Amino acid sequence: MAETFRASILLIYTGGTIGMKTNPETGALSPFDFNDMYEEFPYLKMLNVDISVLHFKPIDSSNVTPALWIELARLIRDSYASFDGFVVLHGTDTMAYSASALSFMIENLGKPVVFTGSQIPIGVLRTDGRENLITAIEIAAAKEGGRAVVPEVCIYFQNKLFRANRTTKHSAELLNAFRSDNYPALADVGVNIHYNEPFIRRAKEDSAPLRIATALETGIEIVKIFPGMRPETLGAMLRIPGVRGVVLETYGAGNAPTADWFVRAVGRAVERGTVVLNVTQCQGGSVSMDMYETGRRLQECGVVSGRDITTESAVTKLMYLLGQNWDGDRVRDMLGRSIRGEITV
Ligand code: ASP
Repeated sequence: MAETFRASILLIYTGGTIGMKTNPETGALSPFDFNDMYEEFPYLKMLNVDISVLHFKPIDSSNVTPALWIELARLIRDSYASFDGFVVLHGTDTMAYSASALSFMIENLGKPVVFTGSQIPIGVLRTDGRENLITAIEIAAAKEGGRAVVPEVCIYFQNKLFRANRTTKHSAELLNAFRSDNYPALADVGVNIHYNEPFIRRAKEDSAPLRIATALETGIEIVKIFPGMRPETLGAMLRIPGVRGVVLETYGAGNAPTADWFVRAVGRAVERGTVVLNVTQCQGGSVSMDMYETGRRLQECGVVSGRDITTESAVTKLMYLLGQNWDGDRVRDMLGRSIRGEITV
């Protein structure tokens, strides 16, 4: 059971559906001002939490760029000592990317950073945003023995708390829009909040100072293969100037064509110094390149196994690692390790 104490939470609003309400005169959706939160939702006063609100210029999360992630990471670092936890309100479309990115950018996190949003605007009667907001705040405020219950970057949505870098938005329609196919929920929410203790990650050294990395490499691309892909399409994608990291989305357990043109194109990209990470197109399960000849050929070319990583996590992990000015061997080595619980090793 979490303890009773008065926590202070920083609520950061970045945009998305959760921040919309219906204008009673026009019927159109317009941004909601979270500074008026207590007037709109007086029941928030029932939470034993002091909430400070910070508004970013609201955007649809389709317009998110790494600049927002850097702003968020700096804000969390600069206000870290003043709050017990952080709640980030964000559009659902790219939430899994932003939350994964933050999980890599912030090192030695000892407090919760909970992303949430909604499928139905908060100012609409049937909204899912109200419950998502309240429970996200409760989770961000929860402490046990003086320590945060979930000191991770996570996503709370529709009764489930997931590790951020394990999530994917899987539905544009359902209220349970997010899934974490390869890792259990960190908490299940029903009448009570059940924390899944053994699966919650704690930074090795709780007392180590929080650090953030703000150098992110954006020379990344996702190459999703499909039957009938032309050699010149793949060749052109792998030779784009400035691309340093490729997320190669393959079939099943990391399989790709064994045709010479395919293997040669990938091999040449690796020789040129591009880091190629093999990620499965499947929602669940893992890449295991030594299972079939079709995977083994990629391994022989120097392609790195993404194991059970999500595409969102693969992209942002590459951005983070390649931004660190480490040499290729170190980057490849780190891709094979779980640095924030993003893969099963
Ligand atoms: N397009 C919106 C966004 O991601 C969708 C949402 O918030 O659910 O900002």
